[in-house]
Amino acid sequence: MPPQPTGLPADDHVHSRFSWDAVAGDMEATCERAVALGLPAISFTEHVDLTAWNAPPGGWTWPDGVRGSIDGHGRFLGAALEVDAYRESVERCRARFPGLLVRCGIELSEGHWYPDEVRDLLSRGFDRVVGSIHTLGDLREPGGHVEAATGYAQRPALEVVRAYLDEVGAMAASDAPFDVLGHVDYPLRHWPADAGPLPWAELEEQVRSVLAVLAASGRALEVNTSLPMDVRLVRWWRESGGRAVAFGSDAHSPGELARGFRDVAAAVEATGFRPAADPTALWARA
Ligand SMILES: [Zn+2]
Ligand SMILES: [Zn+2]
Repeated sequence: MPPQPTGLPADDHVHSRFSWDAVAGDMEATCERAVALGLPAISFTEHVDLTAWNAPPGGWTWPDGVRGSIDGHGRFLGAALEVDAYRESVERCRARFPGLLVRCGIELSEGHWYPDEVRDLLSRGFDRVVGSIHTLGDLREPGGHVEAATGYAQRPALEVVRAYLDEVGAMAASDAPFDVLGHVDYPLRHWPADAGPLPWAELEEQVRSVLAVLAASGRALEVNTSLPMDVRLVRWWRESGGRAVAFGSDAHSPGELARGFRDVAAAVEATGFRPAADPTALWARA
């Protein structure tokens, strides 16, 4: 007998070993945990990264098992998604966990920069595309890129967030094929402690304008619980006309699945979004 519904939303941003950095991402164990938690659905959103990153100060230090290549200029590129093996693994999970809706998706990084590659990839059909920015321009090298965290070594802290939001806005305004904007607050994961509290008031206008562009595009906003998301972002999303919200733990291992969902779902509900009649669907504007 399937577990009773718990009221938790679907986890729509989950990685397994098919992502180059998810070394502990056992897909079957993740599904097992989803069933134990009573989640209605889970979306695997494996990394599709097409932008190579210049090395941070001090060079690269990746944990064992991370898959990628470093070229002659020290640029790192995460390993490509093995689409066929990924799909087969999802199919095995669907067969083993028939009461759980398992979506086969991707997290597409800077998809608006690579229209041709993205068109080819998406012709293979995915159930969910989370569009994310992970990259900023490298101020040391015109045309080069760094991972957003490295941006703090090059820019004042607030300028990192501003540059990140500029690129999110450009992606939201583009016709890149993604359904949900991933982790709009991504650079805050590395906000330096010595920079003091984030000056939200100084960012509000820019954030609202990015969210308005996203809302006008018809896409959804993700509430990513890797960092507890400031609920004012969801309130601004609603006030900007946003219609739907996805929840994503950004789990890279089974134990991180649906982290913080109980509290975050209550906070999001208080801003005026509700579960849809179909528990596997995105939450909608009340
Ligand atoms: Zn991401
Ligand atoms: Zn992710």
